[in-house]
Amino acid sequence: MKNNPWVRAQQQLFKIAKIAKLPPLLTARLQEPDRTVLVSLPIKRDNGKIEVFSGYRIQHNNILGPYKGGIRYHAKVSMDEVKALAFWMSIKCAVANLPLGGGKGGITVDPKNLTEHELKELTKVFARRIAPVIGPSVDVPAPDVNTNSLIMSWIVDEYSKIEGKKTLAVITGKPVDKGGSLGRTEATGFGGGYVLLEVLKHFKKSSKNLTVAIQGFGNVGYHAALFLHNNGFKIVALSDSKSGIYRQGGLDPDEVLKKKKEKGIVDHCYCKGSVCDMKHCKKISNEQLLELPVDILIPAALENVISGKNANKVKAKYILELANGPVTDDADTILNKKNIVVIPDILANAGGVVVSYYEWFQNMKNLRWSKEKVFDKLQNQMKTVTRDVLSAQKKYKVSLRDSAYIVALKRIEAGFKLNDSLH
Ligand code: NAD
Repeated sequence: MKNNPWVRAQQQLFKIAKIAKLPPLLTARLQEPDRTVLVSLPIKRDNGKIEVFSGYRIQHNNILGPYKGGIRYHAKVSMDEVKALAFWMSIKCAVANLPLGGGKGGITVDPKNLTEHELKELTKVFARRIAPVIGPSVDVPAPDVNTNSLIMSWIVDEYSKIEGKKTLAVITGKPVDKGGSLGRTEATGFGGGYVLLEVLKHFKKSSKNLTVAIQGFGNVGYHAALFLHNNGFKIVALSDSKSGIYRQGGLDPDEVLKKKKEKGIVDHCYCKGSVCDMKHCKKISNEQLLELPVDILIPAALENVISGKNANKVKAKYILELANGPVTDDADTILNKKNIVVIPDILANAGGVVVSYYEWFQNMKNLRWSKEKVFDKLQNQMKTVTRDVLSAQKKYKVSLRDSAYIVALKRIEAGFKLNDSLH
């Protein structure tokens, strides 16, 4: 039971409901999703054989606005996993002060085993099955693990066919030339940067030359590295699934990316022509990266990488959770005792859903915002909601994770009271 994500989500709800004195009727509502949809998805494989997949759409609650959350394609997708993820989306959207509720969906499939044609067929059947329960003002899905803007554009096409009109606002995370928002690619990494700057300001700490180690050099890890590098931080360690590098003098994220693109791996510092300068630079493992004596540690890859086993060895003063769930509950307790400031995922990586909301908003109003406008709004929003979480921390004397939950649940409570008769 301990590893069941849905049980964990419910325990978090009950713990915070008690601290924040939530109305019992609201706690009861949030303790189960509003609606769980399980759909059967038969497709004909390219070899002529029929295969049936299971798909899910979970709508946790829509007290603050339409359900919002991604769709993942993974062999391990299960009802309990998607229910927990939908709950966490309710919390994340509320922390970020968005007029959105929480949802999540997925298909139990390893997409690597399907051809593009089969993947498209599966996606179209899924879109048809969930079409009756989604819509621009009802439930707005987005990409998640193993899904991308192309898959989102297939869903928009299928949904629009059913509706008889182009309905861009039914999905976010679309390609920019098909109604997506500028700035969505950078949003999670940059959003995390804005949050970190605000937290450091609160602790009266200058960002100049603070050292940073980032685990995961994908979309989020790269953009966080770029943002922090451009804001005076020193990125000393980076890693991907295969390897990691450490350079005391600092790394240039763009140089590392260039090399990663060439070699497919993060294992060079700076290279000119065919000569790579590995002086003062050493290769490290992903485990070593987590234990480096840096100011800021950023897990930006997988969940559960800091656990009861290694939390005691963490030397960073701040942890910015850009991955979802990188710190286990056991580790959280240890890190809190060590006075390490953990900036929780529901706040730290909310920049992605904030710009998804901007995409939905632009589609609804037929607008096209510039990248500058998107970043400007994102900066304001992330800084304001970070201040809300810091004030709640002071008021309730809890960890930043608990105060983020309190802020979220208090916002949902306000919406609940407003629409009491509709609950
Ligand atoms: P991505 O696929 O672009 O990058 C993931 C990176 O992690 C890659 O560099 C990969 O090599 C690395 N990685 C994989 N296994 C690893 C391992 N064992 N050790 C170290 N590195 C490993 O994914 P992303 O979009 O950057 O997402 C990263 C994390 O951020 C995920 O946890 C995701 O759920 C979370 N997140 C992403 C967004 C978003 O907008 N993309 C929003 C919120 C949360």
